[in-house]
Amino acid sequence: LAKKQGRNGFAFFDAQMRQATEQRMQLLKDLRIAIQKQQFELYFQPIVDMASQKAVKAEALIRWQHPGKGIISPAVFIPLAEETQLILEIGEFIFASACRTQKKLMSAKHQVQLSINVSPIQFSSKHSRLVDWKTHLDELSLNAEQFVIEITEGLMMNAQQRTQSRLNQLSKQGFALALDDFGTGYSSLAYLKQMDTDFIKIDKRFVDGIADSADDLALCEAMIMMAHQLGLKVIAEGIETEAQHKQLLAAGCDYGQGYYYAKPMPEKVYLDFMNNATYGDHLQTD
Ligand code: C2E
Ligand code: MG
Ligand code: MG
Ligand code: MG
Repeated sequence: LAKKQGRNGFAFFDAQMRQATEQRMQLLKDLRIAIQKQQFELYFQPIVDMASQKAVKAEALIRWQHPGKGIISPAVFIPLAEETQLILEIGEFIFASACRTQKKLMSAKHQVQLSINVSPIQFSSKHSRLVDWKTHLDELSLNAEQFVIEITEGLMMNAQQRTQSRLNQLSKQGFALALDDFGTGYSSLAYLKQMDTDFIKIDKRFVDGIADSADDLALCEAMIMMAHQLGLKVIAEGIETEAQHKQLLAAGCDYGQGYYYAKPMPEKVYLDFMNNATYGDHLQTD
């Protein structure tokens, strides 16, 4: 009986594997079409100054409007785009699109620093056009200081010469750098010294427990203190409650991002939000 079950189990596993591979191939096919047909859109999530509660920054977060499946999360398609180098093309769309939004913010007299997520592949690939971004900004009369480049600790693991020099170059050009998902990877502290970081983003999993767990609170406080001693500012991610906001404010956290303040929204809604501050009476936009 055991043997039979084992075989069935194996056959089941095999079928599951085949299905997963087929789904992946289909998704990849759709992803190539999505690039051609421009099915991507940037959403924007305000980042607030914790003390004044002004929406002084925003993070650009990509969304894929799939014709049949609705909105597909970046957590699903970004890894696939990275494995296939398609992220290079998508990454160019993200940057160009964020530049257009920055122009609109400026026309409306809003001073906002826009954060964009940049994949390690965009740093490591020799086909990446990351190095031309500054030229694009010059053409549009935008400044590198109006943008934050969010990278993850994964970037620095086994980083090659090209990655390190591109990081230095962007920083020299004036782009601000943020270390995303801080505290979840390896050797965060060593990398902080190695690169010219401006911000660390405390990961949501530390923020989640901050109001109930003394350990999580202690960890957040320690990260904030350390960052400040190194001359860095801190952005806490995934703040969902007033209790979390209060704890982080008391701990000296500089900026907050999360559903408590505002969710990611399409560009038009975000611009309306900045113009009217219609979302939440505890939020200020100017
Ligand atoms: P991330 O850069 O750490 O972005 C923060 C994620 O947390 C976003 O998920 C955001 O919608 C979500 N979030 C913000 N506040 C809250 C909250 O209060 N509660 C909860 N539950 N979630 C919150 P999203 O947009 O699904 O993006 C997931 C990840 O996909 C991002 O994590 C980032 O690593 C990647 N990603 C998103 N957009 C881009 C992009 O344009 N380029 C690249 N390379 N990666 C991207
Ligand atoms: Mg991010
Ligand atoms: Mg700098
Ligand atoms: Mg994050």
